[in-house]
Amino acid sequence: MAKYPSVFLRAGEDRRLRQGHPWAFSNEILMNPETKAIAPGSPVILRTAGGDALGIATFNPHSLIGARLVSRDGTALLDQALLAARFSAALALRARLYGGVPHYRLVHAEADGLPGLIVDRYGDTVVVQANTAGMHLLSDDIVAALESVLAPAAILFKNDSPSRKLEGLETESRIARGSIEGPIDVIENGARFVCDPAGGGQKTGWFFDQRDNRAMVASFAHGARVLDVFSYAGGFGVLAAHQGAADVTMLDRSQAALDLAVQAARLNQVEARCRVVKGEAFDELERLAAAKERYDIVIADPPAFVKSRKDEKVGAQGYRKLARQAATLVAPGGLLFIASCSHLMPAPLFAEQVRRGLHDAHRGGRILRVTGAGMDHPVHPSLPESAYLKGLLLQVD
Ligand code: SAH
Repeated sequence: MAKYPSVFLRAGEDRRLRQGHPWAFSNEILMNPETKAIAPGSPVILRTAGGDALGIATFNPHSLIGARLVSRDGTALLDQALLAARFSAALALRARLYGGVPHYRLVHAEADGLPGLIVDRYGDTVVVQANTAGMHLLSDDIVAALESVLAPAAILFKNDSPSRKLEGLETESRIARGSIEGPIDVIENGARFVCDPAGGGQKTGWFFDQRDNRAMVASFAHGARVLDVFSYAGGFGVLAAHQGAADVTMLDRSQAALDLAVQAARLNQVEARCRVVKGEAFDELERLAAAKERYDIVIADPPAFVKSRKDEKVGAQGYRKLARQAATLVAPGGLLFIASCSHLMPAPLFAEQVRRGLHDAHRGGRILRVTGAGMDHPVHPSLPESAYLKGLLLQVD
C-alpha cells in the first residue's frame, strides 16, 4: 500500500524526528541513486534505517533540509483532503484569536502542520507563498483546498521569497483564482489599512506579525508626538494616530509604501495628524537629530539587516546604529520600540546591540517589554529558532 517512494534515514538519525522535530537534513538521509532521482518536492514515506515509517514528508534531494514531515501517519496521503483539514484547523484557531475579523496569517508553515507554506488572509482575498518544492508541487491542491474551506474571491501566489532559490524554484507572482484590482483593505486593531500584494507590495502585502506590537505601542500614543521609522504602509504610525497621537511622522524610502500609509490615514480620518517623509532612514534620523527634534514615541521596525551568515557582523552594527539614532530622538521619559525580523539575529544578540546603541547615545533607560510576533505566527515547538521577530519596548531617560 506504499503509495509513495520510501526514503531512508541513515542509521541512528531518527532520534530527533521521533522526538517531534519535523525535518531530516540531507546528510541524515541515505542518498542512494534511487533516492537522488526522486523529483524535488515529491511526497515520500520517510523511514528509519530499519524501515519503520516515521510519516509522510515532502522530499527535495537538492535542499539542505531534505525531508519535511507533513504527517506522522505513514499511510497518509498528501492530497487536497489533508490540506483542507490543516486549513480548517488553522482557521478555527484564527477564529478564536480574532473573532469575526478575517485578516491574519492563516497558515504559518510548520507550526500549522504545512512545512514551507504561508497563507495570509485579507477578508475575501488570500495570498499564498509556497516556499518549498513540496508545496510548489501541491499548488493546485492548495487552491482547491482553500476554495473548499474558505471560498475566497481571489487567490494570489506571491512566490517571491528568497528561500525558493534554495529549493531550486523560480520566483513568480500569479493570480490562481479571481482577480485583484489595485490595493486591498486590511482591518487590524480596529483601524483600516490598505496594502497592494498584487501590485508589487512587499512580501504578501502586509506584515501581520507586528499586530500586537502595534497595539501595544499605540496604547501609549494619546497626545503623543510619534516618529515611525521604516513605516511601510503605516501599521504602527496610522494606528498611533487612530489612538489619539497628536502628531505622527512616517518615514520610508518607498513612495509606494508611503502612498498606502497616506490612504490609510485618510480611511481613518487622521490625515491631519499624519505626515510622511520619503528618505533613507539613517540619513533622515541624523538630520532630525541635528535639528534637535524629539518625540514621545519612536518606532524603528526595519527590514532584516542580517540576510545571510556573512552579513551577521555588519547587520548587528546596523541595529546598534539604529538604536543609537532612534534613542537620540526620544524625549526624556519617552518610549522606543525597536524590532528585528532577521532570522539570523538571535534575541540576546539583538538586545545587546540595542543596549550598545543606547549607551552610544549616552541615554539610560529600561526594557519594559520583550516581544515577538502575534499568535497567528505560531512557532513549532521543535523549531524555536523560527521565532524570527524580536521586539523591545524601552523607556528612555
Ligand atoms: N514597520 C512596517 C514594516 C517595515 S518593512 C510595518 O509595521 O508594517 C521595512 C520597510 O523599510 C519597507 O517599507 C522599506 O521600504 C523600508 N526601508 C528599507 N530600507 C530603508 C532605508 N534604508 N530607509 C528607509 N526605509 C527603508
